[in-house]
Amino acid sequence: MAIGGNDGVVRREKFRLSVCVLASGSRGNATYVSDGRTSILIDAGLSGKEIQRRMSANGLDPKQLDAILVSHEHADHIQGVGVLSRRFDLPVHINDATLQACENTVGRLARVRPFVCGESFPVGELNIHPFSISHDAEDPAGFTITGHGVKIGMATDLGVVTGMVRTHLEACDLLVLEANHDPQMLIDGPYPWPLKQRIRGRSGHLSNEDAALLLTELLHARLQHVVLAHLSEANNTSQKAHAAVSRALNGNAIQLHVASQAEGCGLLTID
Ligand SMILES: [Zn+2]
Ligand SMILES: [Zn+2]
Repeated sequence: MAIGGNDGVVRREKFRLSVCVLASGSRGNATYVSDGRTSILIDAGLSGKEIQRRMSANGLDPKQLDAILVSHEHADHIQGVGVLSRRFDLPVHINDATLQACENTVGRLARVRPFVCGESFPVGELNIHPFSISHDAEDPAGFTITGHGVKIGMATDLGVVTGMVRTHLEACDLLVLEANHDPQMLIDGPYPWPLKQRIRGRSGHLSNEDAALLLTELLHARLQHVVLAHLSEANNTSQKAHAAVSRALNGNAIQLHVASQAEGCGLLTID
């Protein structure tokens, strides 16, 4: 939108994208993205009430939400989807296989907007691109969100970084990346062996080292923020995740954040 400045010069109104990870981990995930006019939630894996509480705690108004995107049907990503959709009359963007896998759990949705992985769609002035990831769900998706010349990439819940994931996450200004476990802590930790194998497998979760390696491949001059997400409370610490990825950043002036289960990560704005 063109607006007139005091000096009489017409300039473009500046929209800034902001991102707030409200919760991250195996007990619930939800991330807020907004350009100030259109606001969306990517996953709603806590109770509706708790998501509203966390939004308010970050100065965000749940009534301003325009849509919910669902990455996959695991409980830690869908718990509040139905409640929030009904309470705020929100369309839910979800692919068919994911919806089939969770429709009994989420119940009636105010509106369903099916998407297909690989095909972009708009929500307001935001352009959403869902892409396939390797995880033990029916049709799991990562997302890129672009708008006003800014690109955000989100990839959690993936066992392996494929060429497609890497390509989609190129040239982002902000990345939310999974750093699920420290490999040694996972091996030494309390989980039964089959679960350890599932987490380490191609359909499981990325380790700190996987995230660090991916980041070295995605580094570029415009990358401002990296949020490490979906940390395991049993098999990782924020210090270990931060240290592993810091080494990979190798002195680059990128702001590195670690999202927690209890508090997520504060509101980040992309300049
Ligand atoms: Zn998850
Ligand atoms: Zn999952």
